Amino acid sequence: MGDKRISSRVSCLGQSGIQAVTIKAGQLRQMGIDLLNFAEGEPDFSTPQHIKDSAYIAMQEDFTKYTAVEGIEELRSAICEKLKYENNVYYNPSQIIVSSGAKQALFNAFMALCDRGDQVLLPVPCFSSYMDQIKITGATPVLVPTDKANKYRITANDLRKHFSPKVKAVVLNSPCNPSGAVIERDHLEEIAEFVVEQNIWVITDEVYEKILHDNNEYISIASLGEAIKKRTITINGLSKTYAMTGWRLGYAAGPEDIIAAMAKIQTHATSNANSIAQKAAIAALSGPQEPANEMAAAYSRRMEHVYEGLNSLPGVSCLRPAGGFYAFACIQDLYGARFGRETLTNETEIVTFLLTEANIAVVPGEAFYYPGYFRFCFATSMDNISKGLDRMDRAFRKLEF
Ligand code: PLP
Repeated sequence: MGDKRISSRVSCLGQSGIQAVTIKAGQLRQMGIDLLNFAEGEPDFSTPQHIKDSAYIAMQEDFTKYTAVEGIEELRSAICEKLKYENNVYYNPSQIIVSSGAKQALFNAFMALCDRGDQVLLPVPCFSSYMDQIKITGATPVLVPTDKANKYRITANDLRKHFSPKVKAVVLNSPCNPSGAVIERDHLEEIAEFVVEQNIWVITDEVYEKILHDNNEYISIASLGEAIKKRTITINGLSKTYAMTGWRLGYAAGPEDIIAAMAKIQTHATSNANSIAQKAAIAALSGPQEPANEMAAAYSRRMEHVYEGLNSLPGVSCLRPAGGFYAFACIQDLYGARFGRETLTNETEIVTFLLTEANIAVVPGEAFYYPGYFRFCFATSMDNISKGLDRMDRAFRKLEF
């Protein structure tokens, strides 16, 4: 036996930038510091009551045993109805798998598609788990930078520039965590054409589809025609829309053979998603949507406040997020600023300065493979947002340029 304790599959994974900030923030809190956390991407709302009630009933009725690995038929049918009426995509239950969060659905998708030597096009900035999940499969993520001038929206041209015959798939995330970019119909059609023409796959992560600001419209790429639908795995989950992060409920829709392959992986990893959460998911998807709509409207009001507040800070600029609950702020103009004897030279130092001087936590852009920025999550109260902006303003005004 060799003396290598940890597999190379795991050794190649980085620590998540969000985790690093969360650990530091936890340490400050333990020291009794009143820290405002804008780092974690978690809704501050409670799960709507009718969803909780349905889980309670499920428990009372002893719905507490293993279910089919791919999820109960009733839930998979409810997901098909949702996809039909809201997204204009037609699936049957054998094309759906229910997983423990969108994260597991994504992991299953990468595992089902990718082999060592494959490449996956990954538009950045992006949710950090894509990178590591792709690496675990042995495939190589190819970063495709998006451009501020195009509001961080990925285009077919960007993808084309990074294409090689080794590319197996492209990841889309609209609205995007962290940039808030929403890909519009014309761009999406061009991306669909590119995917079909190259005979590759698209993994589309739609977890923020219902959190849209201004009059932005959501379009699922799979709805653009049969050819692209055949090459798409649609990922979604209940965490963000229904404030259900802890319930761990997500799902994927796609061609039957791919879904069956994903089920094979899930069988050996976790079996079915939590049975009680599956019942709750039926209530979430098929029940009244007002609570979800009200939460989305609250995020839009907060966005307005954050967008104006961040842009009024010295050295900070951010685009108006089109969707999601994050603002992605450029802080490169703060590079070189001095605080006492220290000079701030990159975004991680600025984020650390904000932690210690303003007692607020945000995530450095590096965590999303996009240095020069930080991500500010506004899934928190207006009151906290005002306090946070105020603290940042006071801290940045202490800097000398
Ligand atoms: N996809 C994106 C883009 C996310 O931002 C997140 C969570 O932050 C997830 C997936 C994970 O969602 P879930 O809680 O359903 O696993």
